Amino acid sequence: MAESELLEKLRKEISACVKCRELAETRTQTVFGDGTIGAEVLFVGEAPGADEDRQGVPFVGKAGQLMDSAMRHAGIPRRMVFIANVLKCRPPENRDPLPDEIDNCRVFLAAQITLLKPKIICTLGRFGLQQLLKGDYKISEVHGKPIRSKDNTIYFPMYHPAAALHNGALRESILEDFKRLAALLKREGILK
Ligand code: URA
Repeated sequence: MAESELLEKLRKEISACVKCRELAETRTQTVFGDGTIGAEVLFVGEAPGADEDRQGVPFVGKAGQLMDSAMRHAGIPRRMVFIANVLKCRPPENRDPLPDEIDNCRVFLAAQITLLKPKIICTLGRFGLQQLLKGDYKISEVHGKPIRSKDNTIYFPMYHPAAALHNGALRESILEDFKRLAALLKREGILK
């Protein structure tokens, strides 16, 4: 089966998931992820918010707009990335994902990574960082620094763009990290 068909099959499986009862009952729809199949860069956020839940697309709300503008500033076209989340459902009132919910959804992100085979995985915020990089990493210490894993995937931890909405001082840091990401993509021959 082609990669696109396998992703479609996974999308259907996710949309039927009711493992987290509260989330399944309160969501409008699941948010699978969005972007170019075959992209070498995967962004992993936390969970859909209200706008994403309504539209079924990740990072379309305020945080997404900030991310789009940071990418534009850094010269990274959105078509170069695929965007997914740790959770595929919106937690009510945008509360933090619960440990059980993260566990239930883990297989779906793992399957996306297996199918998409990204060279670079950018974690946005602490939930993606904790899930994908085992170890006691502090985002304030590792953001903007590439970490190469044994299988040669490069992890690039970043602050969650929503953090800049609550803390203006982080805005510069987030913009700077996107510029560092662009430099990494150039070194890796992904961005010209
Ligand atoms: N925040 C996230 O972590 N993911 C989204 O899709 C939107 C906002």
